[in-house]
Amino acid sequence: MERVQAVRGMNDILPDAVHWWQKVEATARQVLELYGYREIRTPLVEKLELFARSIGESTDIVEKEMYAFADSKGQWLALRPEATASMVRAFIEHNLHADPLARKFYTIGPMFRHERPQKGRYRQFHQIDAEVFGIDDPLMDAEVMVTLCDFLQRLGLRDTGLHVNSLGCPACRPRFREDLKAFLQDRASQLCPDCDRRRHVNPLRVFDCKVDRCRDALNDAPELGQYLCEACRRHFDKVLEYLSHLHVAYDVDSRMVRGLDYYMRTTFEVITDRLGAQNAVGGGGRYDGLMRDLGGPDLPGIGFAIGMERLILLLQQEKTWDSKKPDVFIAVVGDEAVGQAFRLAQDLRTQGVAAELGHGGGSLKSQMRRANKMGAAHVVIVGEEELAKGAVVVRHMVSKEQRQVPLEDVAAFLAGKSTIESL
Ligand code: AMP
Repeated sequence: MERVQAVRGMNDILPDAVHWWQKVEATARQVLELYGYREIRTPLVEKLELFARSIGESTDIVEKEMYAFADSKGQWLALRPEATASMVRAFIEHNLHADPLARKFYTIGPMFRHERPQKGRYRQFHQIDAEVFGIDDPLMDAEVMVTLCDFLQRLGLRDTGLHVNSLGCPACRPRFREDLKAFLQDRASQLCPDCDRRRHVNPLRVFDCKVDRCRDALNDAPELGQYLCEACRRHFDKVLEYLSHLHVAYDVDSRMVRGLDYYMRTTFEVITDRLGAQNAVGGGGRYDGLMRDLGGPDLPGIGFAIGMERLILLLQQEKTWDSKKPDVFIAVVGDEAVGQAFRLAQDLRTQGVAAELGHGGGSLKSQMRRANKMGAAHVVIVGEEELAKGAVVVRHMVSKEQRQVPLEDVAAFLAGKSTIESL
């Protein structure tokens, strides 16, 4: 029979890898809650319009990468390509602004983009996403970046750089856009077909192009930093000053425009050079007009998203984290012992000891081999002979020492770590 395979670019996360995910998620929850974020979970499917209106009609994500479909009633829906728009929608829909404490939110889950799969780029990928609503103080921009860096640092990630930029605001960006358009017009013949199209619809996007001749053409392009209005300049200077207060290292990267239209003022990315072309581990920025544009109150917003696949690929390059192993493997010798062994396994689990029962029998030797393979710290041998004396044998797998322990004491014996070590 022909096998059904997973969809290209959508991966299974298998038990041998899942502990990396669990650790990253647990650390994210711990750090984000430390900074006052509360979890929110939104649907994976939204109305297509939500993303078209927020991310922007002429962005790559909306133009080319959305999993969009009409349902049986003809309503256009999409698998979410990112989480910010959904978070803003939920905030508006549930009037969360009425609660003065509801400011910071996070979510963790899958996103979907129909991109060409390669290392670090998938069609279903996962993000840790954090958003802050209602605060336009540059101190918050700095705090958001500090939160992201703190999280990465706690995971022990090394060799990443924080790139920061300001994209200006509706008061100053249009002038830059016009000058950039004029500049690109003069170099139109040098641009790739994509950029030649972008220069009309969304000229800032050309800075994202990886094609060499476009990069060369942009060498002496106008610099966004030179166009910031007084208010944007002040805001950006403050952000950088606050980062310096906490000794956070950063590079100002005036070419970093990010792929979503809703950003304004501060944008940032955490960059690595260890993942080939997919060099962004996470990124984010400020989007002060978005909530108003989506029909909500005119509240500012700022946030970031971290790509979990890329983060885990990087962590795996530099660390070994072991998966959870059973505390004890219960080897059963003889049919008479099975019932007792089953009861003992249950007793141990009730007391918080992770116990694996030697199902399916086999010789003691083969059960010991299995225990070894599983990495169990101890083996309890339940045999008819010892049971007759109301006891079992507990063996420490590393020291290979073993001793007889009364059946009713096994749980206490294994649970008391000091006694285990001294076995
Ligand atoms: P963005 O929402 O485009 O700003 O992306 C934020 C982060 O999500 C990036 O820095 C990546 O780590 C991750 N990411 C974005 N697209 C993909 C993808 N197709 N596959 C894997 N990770 C992705």
